[in-house]
Amino acid sequence: MRSVAALLLLLLCASVATACSGDRDPNPNAKPLPPSSYVLPERIVQQIRDHQDDANRIIDYFTKGPGQGQTYTRLASLVDTVGPRPSGSASLERAIDMMLGNLKADRLDNVHGEPAWIPHWVRGAEYVQLLEPHDFTMNILSLGSSVGTGPQGITAEAIVVSSFEELTNRSAEAKGKIVVFNQPFVSYGETSVYRTQGASAAAKVGGVASLIRTIAPFSIYSPHTGVQFYTDGIPKIPTACITIEDAEMMARMHARGQRIVLKVYLEAQNLNDTLSRNTVAEVVGSTHPEQVVLVSGHLDSWDIAEAAMDDAGGAIISWQALSVVKALGLKPKRTMRALLWTSEEFGGVGSQQYYNSQANNTGNYSIVMESDLGTFTPTGLEFTGSPAATAIIQQIGQLLVNANATVVDCSLTFRHLLFCSLSGVPGASLHNDNDDYFYFHHSRGDTMTVEDPVALDLCAAVWAVYAYVIADLDDMLPR
Ligand SMILES: [Zn+2]
Repeated sequence: MRSVAALLLLLLCASVATACSGDRDPNPNAKPLPPSSYVLPERIVQQIRDHQDDANRIIDYFTKGPGQGQTYTRLASLVDTVGPRPSGSASLERAIDMMLGNLKADRLDNVHGEPAWIPHWVRGAEYVQLLEPHDFTMNILSLGSSVGTGPQGITAEAIVVSSFEELTNRSAEAKGKIVVFNQPFVSYGETSVYRTQGASAAAKVGGVASLIRTIAPFSIYSPHTGVQFYTDGIPKIPTACITIEDAEMMARMHARGQRIVLKVYLEAQNLNDTLSRNTVAEVVGSTHPEQVVLVSGHLDSWDIAEAAMDDAGGAIISWQALSVVKALGLKPKRTMRALLWTSEEFGGVGSQQYYNSQANNTGNYSIVMESDLGTFTPTGLEFTGSPAATAIIQQIGQLLVNANATVVDCSLTFRHLLFCSLSGVPGASLHNDNDDYFYFHHSRGDTMTVEDPVALDLCAAVWAVYAYVIADLDDMLPR
């Protein structure tokens, strides 16, 4: 059972290894786990039940104590002050500096930055002009790592396809054209391959630029950016996302046999890698300081929004999980470590380098937790681990009955948390009411307006209770 799960995870990781992180689906079809057939020893059940008072104190701290409203305030202060935090930018480093100051001000332990080299891509001015059959300027966003068009732009006729298969079948028509992908949205994991691989697929058949229908289930004329990857040995052509509305409009024109002429102008550039930092803070364990419960989110974002949702929210609740434990004077047996990743959006670049530094030490990680699927009203945890570990997580969930956050969903598909996929460390993500996540994701709409103070209080409480109780059990989570 476990080896099958591990294989599935590896296959999943392999199949999307080049996709952008943050590209996981929020499991819209996820169902609460049925009661586990694994029976926990009474000793462990009692150990967990003994934490009910601590859990209540944490929940009260955030919902009616000094922490009430604090998660929203801290989140807003960061994103309103620093703004967008793209990989390689000065504003990302400013966010890291600000967070290092915040973590130190909370008197957390071992606050520091760990160096990581990260990509530096800049957008510049950009537009796509429809020239035929009518004159219209589209709302677009270049994709991360795209090359620019040069000062003249690229003016060419467009071909519209709905799949890679259709492009292959009509490859003779694509030469010298701008390839427009109007693929239907199936799920984020399945559909985002058009964004990550579309430019190289278009270039392979002679396309001169590619425009990708935004990867989202819903749109009010909003383009959503994200990273893309060029395939070695294939010419690099400029690529941008367009709105669902414009993709469908051009598909209708194309089906009608109308000639579509576009001018694509992108100033995008890839600059030299820059030195950044993963941000680290701890509450050092009282009995097993070398053993770690890791909580995380990413500080970097796309360049077009203050990105409160993706993923400053996840970063802030990871800070809050340690902050409350310190404030309440709780002393977990093993170390709680917060990691605020750098350059997640370009493919988990920061977390990859952190994992590399820890690859010989993964036996000391009890669990790796990452919140990067929204901080809406929390419902529990998404979890991947052995049946015995799952039963423990379910039992801890019972401490959160009053917070309505007892769901343990085991359909979690970590893609870049290498601790889980490569080293078998149990992994978790915040389970929350995130049905609207992809309405905002990687768009200009990802702002503080998406976030709710009451939901954030609960997110911080739920994240903290799971992390603290796991850190304070007598034993590490079983593999
Ligand atoms: Zn993200």
